[in-house]
Amino acid sequence: MPGKKTSNSATNAPQPAWPDRLRYFSERQGEIVNTVRQLVEIESPSDNKPAVDRIAAFLAPKFEALGGRTRLHRSSNFGDSLQINFEVPSGSASSKPVLLLGHYDTVYPLGTLANMPCKIADGRLHGPGVLDMKSGIALILHAIEAVQAWHGELPGPVTVFLVSDEEVGSHSSRRITEALAKESAGVLVLEPAAGLRGAVKTARKGVGEYTLRVKGIAAHAGLDPGKGHSAILELARQVAIIAKLNNLRQGVSVNPGVIQGGTRTNVIAAEASAGIDVRIKRAQQASGIDRKLRSLKPFDKHCKLEITGNINRLPMERTAGVASLYKKAREIAGHIKWKLEEAAVGGGSDGNFTAGMGIPTLDGLGGVGEGAHAVHEYIVISELPRRALLLAGMIESA
Ligand SMILES: [Zn+2]
Repeated sequence: MPGKKTSNSATNAPQPAWPDRLRYFSERQGEIVNTVRQLVEIESPSDNKPAVDRIAAFLAPKFEALGGRTRLHRSSNFGDSLQINFEVPSGSASSKPVLLLGHYDTVYPLGTLANMPCKIADGRLHGPGVLDMKSGIALILHAIEAVQAWHGELPGPVTVFLVSDEEVGSHSSRRITEALAKESAGVLVLEPAAGLRGAVKTARKGVGEYTLRVKGIAAHAGLDPGKGHSAILELARQVAIIAKLNNLRQGVSVNPGVIQGGTRTNVIAAEASAGIDVRIKRAQQASGIDRKLRSLKPFDKHCKLEITGNINRLPMERTAGVASLYKKAREIAGHIKWKLEEAAVGGGSDGNFTAGMGIPTLDGLGGVGEGAHAVHEYIVISELPRRALLLAGMIESA
């Protein structure tokens, strides 16, 4: 039969064939949608700890009902992150777990649901965070439930880690993510798929954020124009230099995305600043771009420059470990005649951390849709069953 062998399964329950597995999830599509809806309707902006803690409190018993052992990692500045361990009582006790990674914080402030309600229209489920990445969390719950139903228990240990602060840099959760990854055989990240064809992500750019502050000398623009040294003029010249650091062919992009400065039109500005987003394709590009930003020199000797920030996430590079996880995923998809594609993307995720440590990582296993972080964010409902099948298959073959 076409079902895969799971020699360490504790029961002799018959292994469902792949088309039956797909049917299993298709029959439960409505339940999966309901789970996603429940999660979307608990708003959880990264910067609102009580809200993020509420979704953790909602999820913990759901995982406990599946036999997971939950542990809250408390944070005072951010929401708490939730770790769930599924241990296997018999057999494979020594094998390393697979780590399922995600986040339940979103970029949407409280109250967004009023203008952007969670609703179904034309086969799509809309709502804040539905794609990035509450559907991914729902997939974790339903895939684990299915594998347990098929085999009596999970074929191997599984760790789930859902973080509270991914959208704002993962400052409170990063060390925990890295510690868990270190103990794991591989990492499956439930961030959204790439594009409407549902590609998984085998490479991600590294991400950095910098701030350039310029201090000039204020003066009355009318009475003493010669005495001032404009921070705004200096910043404008610096921005032109920074823009030249772009090297799209090499996969390096630098974007001064926010500028601020000055107080009034009749004052020569004493202060100005720029927030700069940096993306790199390869880890070895990090030090070069960092050095270039730090060695900017003022054009006007009376102005002072101060640059802060760093490369926060190194790139997720397509290592041999990443490629072998993708190969496995493609094989699983092939069982239901699905040609699963891979993609390299510019955005970073916590998968950058784990891949950067050399742990095999496959990202983009979550929902399929469009509009992450935007008012039209949605997932394609009919994609949910095969995404769940893929994740279940990856858990089984970990
Ligand atoms: Zn995300």
